[in-house]
Amino acid sequence: VRPENCPPDVEKLGRATWTFLHTTAAYYPERPTPNQRANMLMLLRSLPILYPCSHCASHLDENMKTSPPDVSGRLGLSRWLCERHNEVNERLGKGKFDCGIKSLDERWKDGPSDGSCD
Ligand code: FAD
Repeated sequence: VRPENCPPDVEKLGRATWTFLHTTAAYYPERPTPNQRANMLMLLRSLPILYPCSHCASHLDENMKTSPPDVSGRLGLSRWLCERHNEVNERLGKGKFDCGIKSLDERWKDGPSDGSCD
């Protein structure tokens, strides 16, 4: 078993990055200011340039060319990210996540209604 404190591999880096991105989208304002939109756009556009997994970065670059980021508000951003994540899931032969806001909020913001994450 690989010790917990080893440098991240592609999987561990991916889980950490998706956690950051989906959670940030879940708390992004419904009506972001122009400044918040501009900064979110910069954050997302920096990923294909800086993400330290080069084949992941180049897939994302291609993907973002056909599907430009939606930074209009938290609903649009959450869905856009979910769809980008699903494209990776599909490529890796994993199942698709339901991109409805209810499922996304339950996973990344509110937790399930049974209170098991409270
Ligand atoms: P992850 O895919 O990391 O997902 C973490 C959790 O997110 C899941 O347990 C689930 O609860 C939730 N989730 C799953 N799908 C969605 C969704 N669509 N929307 C919201 N929540 C969801 N790996 C490669 O091998 N090749 C690549 O080209 C590649 N490209 C990547 C590009 C980016 C931008 C990122 C951030 C990661 C990339 N990865 C790539 C890593 C890959 O996506 C996974 O993170 C990694 O394989 C670990 O997978 P996992 O099954 O543990 O869960």
